[in-house]
Amino acid sequence: MLLGSHVGMSSPEYLLGSCKEALSYQANTFMFYTGAPQNTIRTNVNQLKIKEAQQFLKEHDMHIENVIVHAPYLINLANCEDDEKYQLSLRLLTTEIERTLTIGCKYLVLHPGSALKADRNLAIHHVIEGLNQVTTKYPNITILIETMAGKGSEIGISFEEIKQMISGIKNQNSIGVCLDTCHIHDAGYDIQNIDVLLEQFDNIIGLDKLKVCHLNDSKNLCGDKKDRHANIGYGQIGFDALCAFIHHPLLQDKIFILETPWISYSLENSKVSYPPYRFEIEMLRKQQFDPNLMNHVWNYYQTK
Ligand SMILES: [Zn+2]
Repeated sequence: MLLGSHVGMSSPEYLLGSCKEALSYQANTFMFYTGAPQNTIRTNVNQLKIKEAQQFLKEHDMHIENVIVHAPYLINLANCEDDEKYQLSLRLLTTEIERTLTIGCKYLVLHPGSALKADRNLAIHHVIEGLNQVTTKYPNITILIETMAGKGSEIGISFEEIKQMISGIKNQNSIGVCLDTCHIHDAGYDIQNIDVLLEQFDNIIGLDKLKVCHLNDSKNLCGDKKDRHANIGYGQIGFDALCAFIHHPLLQDKIFILETPWISYSLENSKVSYPPYRFEIEMLRKQQFDPNLMNHVWNYYQTK
């Protein structure tokens, strides 16, 4: 099973540091942003320690093709109101694709964007047009459209909308889906009923198009359209449903990435937080819920 989490990527070790972080969680894959997701400042790829990272992965039996890049949030290909912003989105996406391919990764996760005040159909056509431009130029990338929760005017909030976007892409090898369990739960899909859910996905989109799953619990009720991630087993989806999801026979060729929140601890005058991933990965692999996750994470990082 390919299971990892979101990891950081920063100076001085950059991508090599990301690999080491993933290994410290006993993960065999990971996801990262090639720079801050909210801005356009990017460190030159020559400085990212790509060769060292690739070597490290080989030594630890991990494969760079299973490592996922997440595109910055700023990209909104669904913007049909402001052409300047749409063009900026296309330029940002092009840069991210070039960086992803230089690093040696294959999959780039992309939020399909927000329609703003425009008609959703029109917005979806803008996304298709943009994706056709970039995937024609870079046939080796596979863009994974992420399923969204339905905040504001987000598009891609139903399997039908995702299918509509995918159907419009000329080069079908360049397009796939990243399913976020928190997002689809918040959008109104029932993860407890996994067989029905996967059948629905398969009928509408096709399970062959699903490459990556963001595995998150949700702080919200099903259909709340909010998008607030919770730790595995500590939200409204629950441990059993998420565990059944990740161990489902139809999903064994997918890549699973945790994007659950770091756990915060209040000290006398301050707060610290630590990543839960090592322990969440362990409980998902063992298929056993850990009711003392907070304590285990705390104890572990006190000795580091
Ligand atoms: Zn995302």
